[in-house]
Amino acid sequence: MAQQIFSQLEIPHTLAAGPGPGNTDPRVLERFTNSGVADHMQADVLRGMIEAKLMLRQVFGTKNLYTFGVAGTGWSGLDTMMSAVQPGDTVVAFVNGTFSSIDGLTLRMKAATADELAANPLNPDAASVKIIDVPHGESITNSVIEAALGEHKPKWAFMAHWETGSGRINDVQAFSVACERYGAMGLVDAVSSLGVANFAIDDYPGVVAWASCPQKGICCLPLTYAPVSFSDKYIEVLQKSGARTFVHHPILEARHWGIVDGEDIEKGTYHRTHSGYAVAAFHEALRLTLEESVSARSSSYAFHERALRTAVESMGCTVTSNMTSLVVMNLPQSLEGREMELVQICRNRGFGIWPTLSEPVQIRIGILNQLSQVSITEIVTRFAEVMQEAGADIDLDQIQRGLDGYYTKHAA
Ligand SMILES: *Cc1c(COP(=O)(O)O)cnc(C)c1O
Repeated sequence: MAQQIFSQLEIPHTLAAGPGPGNTDPRVLERFTNSGVADHMQADVLRGMIEAKLMLRQVFGTKNLYTFGVAGTGWSGLDTMMSAVQPGDTVVAFVNGTFSSIDGLTLRMKAATADELAANPLNPDAASVKIIDVPHGESITNSVIEAALGEHKPKWAFMAHWETGSGRINDVQAFSVACERYGAMGLVDAVSSLGVANFAIDDYPGVVAWASCPQKGICCLPLTYAPVSFSDKYIEVLQKSGARTFVHHPILEARHWGIVDGEDIEKGTYHRTHSGYAVAAFHEALRLTLEESVSARSSSYAFHERALRTAVESMGCTVTSNMTSLVVMNLPQSLEGREMELVQICRNRGFGIWPTLSEPVQIRIGILNQLSQVSITEIVTRFAEVMQEAGADIDLDQIQRGLDGYYTKHAA
């Protein structure tokens, strides 16, 4: 066969204003590209991993020894977190959008018996898993959690902290309390909340494991590490049951981060070939978060989200989300049904906003690492222009004045 070589791949710079990935911080990219080539057992790479582990415990707000990064994306961390779930284990999973729905699928795959998996390999119906569906646009609340965990008393319970698909915050406090009350071990998808919300996982003792991602609140896209944290209880259970994975085994993966036999050791031992570039980028992202502090970043998200929310509302949109990194909205009546068209126009112009991926079709605009008046103004202006071209009755000057007024009024 004739060989075929394509021309060099150029990827343009876009304004990533969706649910994620967010804008990788320039400081992170600088560490990524300025690191030398070094193998995965080189002293500074290993030191970087130890330091990253120690910083990650602070970002998570935890004393959990088993806190580290799983190479890859959010799903890599989630897969690691769910690796303790065995075929036949009882699970209750709360689902209120695209991502928790995939988490629910993962749990059904893990908990399915061999026969159940063979009957429907890509979408198994596992009798031991109870999926509690909450409508898109609604949060998972105390009463839903109480009722389901009280009735089923499962071994494992699962919830997304922030469901990015519908832009909703779920009640992790109620989830933790109910897990303790009914003897379930809580697993939480914190992919969208870590680095954006101000919380410390040790305040939620009913939750035994947490998994997040590099590319949202942590601002570290160049394929780095999905943060995970496991309580001693989770590790004890896993030690007894084992897990059917080598690479995503929480106890084995922890070794390279210098966590062996329930203790921090001075330097890690081989688990897989970690990239010095990725370690340096992740390390810088954690430094950045701690320098600014999780609580200051969280306030900043809330402040800038309010500016964006108010601006799109003044364009006639209805916001249905309550996350602070993302606005999920319906278009004004005159533009209803044209969500995909508007999103596509924006995306063609290098302005990366998103539709919802499950029904109903809504528009999602995110502000990950876009925490400034200039950035929010650019996002609002670019969206308003497309709305106006589509025929919405919008006064661009008035929107600009509204934003200026918001920022002037709240300037320090
Ligand atoms: C983004 C997201 C994921 C998936 O993360 P990837 O980095 O794409 O693997 C999972 N869960 C939630 C809640 C998310 O927001």
